[in-house]
Amino acid sequence: MKGEVIPMRNYTKIFLLLIPLLFILPIYFSAADKKADLSSEDIYKERMALYLKAEATSQIPWYYFAAVDSYERGLRRARNDLPEEEGFIAIHYTNEEWAGELNPNKDDNNAVSISLFGGVGLDGNGDGKADINDDEDVLYTFAQHLAGFGRNEEDIRIGLWDYYQRDKAVELITGHAKVYKKFQTLNLRENSFAVPLHYNYSYRSTWGDGRGWGGRRIHEGTDIFADYGTPVKSTSYGIVELKGWNKYGGWRVGIRDIHNVYHYYAHLSRFEDGIERGTIVEPGQVIGYVGSSGYGKPGTQGKFPPHLHYGMYRDNGFIEWSFDPYPSLRRWEQLDRQKKNN
Ligand SMILES: [Zn+2]
Repeated sequence: MKGEVIPMRNYTKIFLLLIPLLFILPIYFSAADKKADLSSEDIYKERMALYLKAEATSQIPWYYFAAVDSYERGLRRARNDLPEEEGFIAIHYTNEEWAGELNPNKDDNNAVSISLFGGVGLDGNGDGKADINDDEDVLYTFAQHLAGFGRNEEDIRIGLWDYYQRDKAVELITGHAKVYKKFQTLNLRENSFAVPLHYNYSYRSTWGDGRGWGGRRIHEGTDIFADYGTPVKSTSYGIVELKGWNKYGGWRVGIRDIHNVYHYYAHLSRFEDGIERGTIVEPGQVIGYVGSSGYGKPGTQGKFPPHLHYGMYRDNGFIEWSFDPYPSLRRWEQLDRQKKNN
């Protein structure tokens, strides 16, 4: 087309073709402003579109990108040295990683000079810039890294390990991926109270209290007192990370949700059939039954009144720590009550 004269009527055509851009471009350039006005459903839609684009360019299933994004979003919530993400994607690169450690221009968005200085930043949307603040560029950069290791599950695990250098990150992300794959949606926000409301139960805030058994420990959870055999329900979507005996917790189940939070259900009398390591669960699903197991060798029970010990642990990318589940339980109990009334 170079040097050709475009007949007048084609200008009109081109102008008409450009009109949609007038509407798309402002939206595109202000993801942060836009996000503030969007419903969660709309945010999920935007994110899903980005994951599917990454899937198309890398041939790695979208739910791995959803999983990595969830993992990093969980880290951002757990730490205060990481800023809240401005766009739709939480995957975080430092300026040094993106532009290259020796790059004198830490805000470099030129893919060529970034590459010369050993930076990882790539231009994913073909706008000529490798922009650390552009969701598509960030996701594309991550996807290309991962695809470099191959595309089957084991390759992806190796790629994730190479990227995070942390076994736990690989476990959490592959777990999240299984949850997303099973439910085929990003909308996994729902929660449930840990026991059915129509059973007799009682609980109060005792997180941080001193303990009697097993040395100097603090109480890392909330005790929900209920009769033997009261069903115990998963409070969230997630994957069963642990199941078995522990001398303190007795028969217990640990479930990891997609925000990296670990939910710990202890002193069970028994497990629900089909609950195994790796089982994907949803909120309200029965995972076991209230008991008084624990405080001794496997099978010990009756050393205290039957109750569910429920704990929540947050992961910050290095360590996990217990936080008080009482406010969450109160909220979920309230929500379950409203659901019942509807
Ligand atoms: Zn307890």
